[in-house]
Amino acid sequence: MSNILSELIADIAVNIPLKQLFSYRVPESLVDSAQVGMRVKIPFGHRTTIGFLLVLRRGQSQGLKDLSELLDEKPILTPELIKLLRWAADYYCYPIGQVVRTALPAGLGSEKTTTKILTEALYKPLNQDILPRGKKQQELLLFIVQQGSAGLTQIREQFPAPYAVLKRLVEVGILEMSEQELLRDPFVTEKLPEDKYLTLNNAQKEAVEAIATAIKRDCFSGYLLHGVTGSGKTEVYLQAVEQCLTADRQALILVPEISLTPQLVARFRARFESKGVRIAVLHSGLSAGERYDAWREILRNNIQIVIGARSAIFAPLQNLGLIVIDEEHESSYKQGEGFRYNARDLALVRGQQQNCPVLLGSATPSLASYYRSEQGSLIRLTLERRVHGGELPQVELVDLKDHVIDGTLSNPLIEAIQQALEQREQVLLLLNRRGFAPFLLCTDCGSSFHCPNCDITLTYHQRSHELRCHYCDYTDVVPESCLKCQGLNIEPQGAGTERLELELEELFPAATVARMDRDTTSRKGSHGKIMSRMLAGKIDILVGTQMIAKGHDFPGVALVCVLGADSILNFPDFRSGERSFSLFTQVSGRAGRAHGGGKVLIQSYNSDHYALSCAAEQDYQNFYQQELPFREELGYPPYGHLVNLVLSGNNPHQVKTAAQQFSHYLTGIAGSVEILGPSPCPLSRLRGKSRYQILLKSAARPALRQLLNCLDGGIKQLPRQVNLIIDVDPVDML
Ligand code: ADP
Ligand code: ZN
Repeated sequence: MSNILSELIADIAVNIPLKQLFSYRVPESLVDSAQVGMRVKIPFGHRTTIGFLLVLRRGQSQGLKDLSELLDEKPILTPELIKLLRWAADYYCYPIGQVVRTALPAGLGSEKTTTKILTEALYKPLNQDILPRGKKQQELLLFIVQQGSAGLTQIREQFPAPYAVLKRLVEVGILEMSEQELLRDPFVTEKLPEDKYLTLNNAQKEAVEAIATAIKRDCFSGYLLHGVTGSGKTEVYLQAVEQCLTADRQALILVPEISLTPQLVARFRARFESKGVRIAVLHSGLSAGERYDAWREILRNNIQIVIGARSAIFAPLQNLGLIVIDEEHESSYKQGEGFRYNARDLALVRGQQQNCPVLLGSATPSLASYYRSEQGSLIRLTLERRVHGGELPQVELVDLKDHVIDGTLSNPLIEAIQQALEQREQVLLLLNRRGFAPFLLCTDCGSSFHCPNCDITLTYHQRSHELRCHYCDYTDVVPESCLKCQGLNIEPQGAGTERLELELEELFPAATVARMDRDTTSRKGSHGKIMSRMLAGKIDILVGTQMIAKGHDFPGVALVCVLGADSILNFPDFRSGERSFSLFTQVSGRAGRAHGGGKVLIQSYNSDHYALSCAAEQDYQNFYQQELPFREELGYPPYGHLVNLVLSGNNPHQVKTAAQQFSHYLTGIAGSVEILGPSPCPLSRLRGKSRYQILLKSAARPALRQLLNCLDGGIKQLPRQVNLIIDVDPVDML
């Protein structure tokens, strides 16, 4: 009989909304093969389910069920990754099983979708002494011998219908056939730009050297690379990564959104792939199979560089030497639903856990990161100037109080566009609102049209002739008459990109106008098409949402116009100033990148707002100095830490009562943590649910932590129909 104390126990994360791990006995038959990081099948309640084996230990097996089956031959989670995921589950108060599920590519995390490993026949010469008879057989054999070996797909490209011939060659023992795993690689067919290896200027050299030293020392340190657009940050990333590869380590590069940064990906591939370095590009456009394949290749250590969006922070690299977060200020690093992690913050944690440097780069660092660099927990590296000595663009604020406007554009903007077109220069217009008009108004009775599910007006889309909710995607036909008074005078109010596009076409009939927003780029490849038309000079005026502010290098753009600045400035969020400054500075940086100079016009009713004037001066320091006191006064980040608790449910009264009770419970145990609310969320109804929020604010993390550890008592009292979301370090608080 085996000693019960020394039996092997597996602690398993299950994909259900509970925090704890579940313990199972590892049966004798699986003791030798069970490994941490494997998927397992387990009996769970009345069913069997899939789980992730996170801990193996010796212990008491009394009362424990046996795990039924191992689903992997080799672990799909590495010990390093498990450590990170457990840390994150704890920090973000999210159930560990669901954290693991979010980190894994689809198909690996659940039992429903199983992604197949693709295989194909691989042919190799077996016996070269036998000479085949037919000409077709000889040609085919010669081809395979020249290649060393060849897969069926490759053979088919050269020889139509080769199968009978191949079969014959295998039968007579000339070829052997085996199954090889086929890796789906969506990028293989793309053409790469020529690589320009650049000699670094002094500021760049200093940055690369600092990072290289940290890589060699095998220890964590965080860097903030602050450099205006065009100051050569990407080249710093490239050469830092090269240092990392030279040290025989792997690099992880995060970008806000892959589809918006094809140029960065192309530069990495051009630089490294010719040297035999393998790069995995992970992004939302990948099929489940492609993700699965990339994951396995990374696990096998066949990949040296991973480039990806937010979720790539979980790529199972085992020998990390450097993590780069490009455009670190971007809010898209924060996941907005489910497991609400922030990939930028997790990058710093991962760097600490895996002893590697982390490099955050931005032209407009987040206030949080810049504050850290002032405090010394991040080392700041600065690139002061644009590489090509180009002047920064000249930014002018147009005060709308001084101008009468007819449509959306004030006269100074119209004149500047006219001038740019005459000089055959391209123009970029930012209006961060898609659709034709944000709402329709009945001018007889003053009523507007609201989403039935959300507390928001429906946006009028003229092209598709419909009303659409930008939050829940509810669509409706455009009404002929007012629902309230039957009046026929329904007017679109305000302007979105569609309307602006039309206005420009009317004002400048000779110009080619294009639009880039979520509506025009929803089809695969459509974004790239607009980009290449722009680069080829086939577009004179490009209108777009914040999408146009990101990642592009359009050398032909000499004029940038910003519209709708007021709605960005007045967004109901304490970070609206930071976001405005960042967006306006970034989009301004799109002007005159090639030849220097360039002009930017920002029209607004708030032209004396410091976020605008600092953006106009491209003066980050000044913005930082003006924004900080306001944050300090209110105890907002970086001075205080926030957790947003959102309660929602179908019954408004029930949600409100539950929120009040919950807040009451919290007040009893708050300690030094401030409890704000409950109050209706700015979006008080979303997708049919009523929403209330309670904001927890604390100058010290430990106090907040302690409170979060005690939430369960309050959660138990919540009615089943009321859902609670815990958002740690919230970014979007609508
Ligand atoms: P950022 O990422 O800061 O916007 P990039 O790295 O894209 O800047 O550099 C801007 C431009 O300057 C690119 O065209 C790049 O090729 C060029 N560049 C960068 N570093 C150098 C250098 N040391 N010498 C010459 N050109 C450079
Ligand atoms: Zn809606």
